[in-house]
Amino acid sequence: MQDQRKPTPRLLGTLRQHFPRTHALTAGAASFALALTMFVSTPEVEARRLSLPVNLSTAEVTGPEAVPATPEAAAGKVEPPAIATSLRSQSLTVQSGDTLSDLFQRANVNAADMYKLLASGKEAKQLARLTPGEELTFHIDDDGALQSLELHRDRLNLIEFTRGEADDFRYARHQREADSYSAYREAEIDSSLFVAGSNAGLSQSLIMEMAEVFSSDIDFALDIRKGDRFSVMYEEKFLDGEKIGNGPIQAVSFTNQGKTFSAVRYVDSNGDANYYTPDGKSMRKAFIRTPVDIGRISSHFNPRRLHPIFKTRRPHNGTDYAAPRGTPVYAVGDGRVIKAGYSKANGNYVFVQHGERYVTRYLHLHQRKVKSGQRVKQRQVIGTVGATGYATGPHLHYEFLVNGHHRNPATIVRKLPKAKSVPEAEMARFKSQTQPLLAQLENYEQPALAQRDTDNNDNSVN
Ligand SMILES: [Zn+2]
Repeated sequence: MQDQRKPTPRLLGTLRQHFPRTHALTAGAASFALALTMFVSTPEVEARRLSLPVNLSTAEVTGPEAVPATPEAAAGKVEPPAIATSLRSQSLTVQSGDTLSDLFQRANVNAADMYKLLASGKEAKQLARLTPGEELTFHIDDDGALQSLELHRDRLNLIEFTRGEADDFRYARHQREADSYSAYREAEIDSSLFVAGSNAGLSQSLIMEMAEVFSSDIDFALDIRKGDRFSVMYEEKFLDGEKIGNGPIQAVSFTNQGKTFSAVRYVDSNGDANYYTPDGKSMRKAFIRTPVDIGRISSHFNPRRLHPIFKTRRPHNGTDYAAPRGTPVYAVGDGRVIKAGYSKANGNYVFVQHGERYVTRYLHLHQRKVKSGQRVKQRQVIGTVGATGYATGPHLHYEFLVNGHHRNPATIVRKLPKAKSVPEAEMARFKSQTQPLLAQLENYEQPALAQRDTDNNDNSVN
């Protein structure tokens, strides 16, 4: 099954030719630092479900007597240690608005046990912070006394309280790890990235993640054309053979108007995950090109514009993006909010200072999500699109100032500096981590490319 085909020289040449540009973008999913399980697969683009042994660890055990992980637990499911027979078990799913006492009442367990449990240690405080969808399983003896309580936070995390010898409750946390596999999808865009991505089986969040990776290079509101295409390799997470979610994009390439951009995920020696070009340049620029993911430019930067409301010559000092009310508005770069407020003309507005020289302004917001003085990261949501102030409809008015002078937001970012590349000292580490991913992406792509070549040949014969 280990198909280790090397990319053909032709392909490598093609790819190199496409990579000389430097670009960059943010690593959204830095939190998924899962161990990488790679499977070079057949060209079919499906992730495969393999039954592998499940890793289970008892991550933390406290209390008078530590509760050991049991063989039953190691066998697969997150199960607490076996409990004596003749216990009645009841599982309840936390609903919106439920309190712990509601749940105890519903399970017919008396309140005294609840208070005893809550007083058993600081870990029990977690029971006061329940989230809808979590599951509580009560194990109750013949006398109606609570013998143990399990809190299933999600399919990977179980917290357990067990009545001890001294009639107190002992705490244990059990954690499982999902199995990760590489999945691959590719598509050609006919109408929109979202339609093509969805048809290829990508979740909405993966499509967004992909758009985010390339957002310094491609304006997804303006630049996408019929015939653009992408190929993406990402992690899928499985538990007991069942898919429970997606991990981050591992490697991705996007061809926009004939120009191909590629990016690979790299976890650097500080543990930070970011996307880089195959030669180690950051995909992230100091500024992203647009502060909204969806929307179209409804009014360009124009120092001599006729104002739509005032019908007089007034400079349009920014770019307007028409987008539905509520669309998230991002800070285009790391910085500090220097003003966030409301005025009659601007409506709700946010101004962000980036370093010494740059300021960005966001007007007519429906909601502000940040306060004056607050630090913001690139792509942090600072507000939502609205029509407050002098606005004819929901849109974002966005300004970019360099040393106090208005510049065209649609073009300035290309001229500005990039985020840092992989340092020379870390290049070997970068290569060893990323080259297998890029090779695998190329392997997946090959059958499709070969097919395209065949098509081209046919055309030339005709
Ligand atoms: Zn405007």
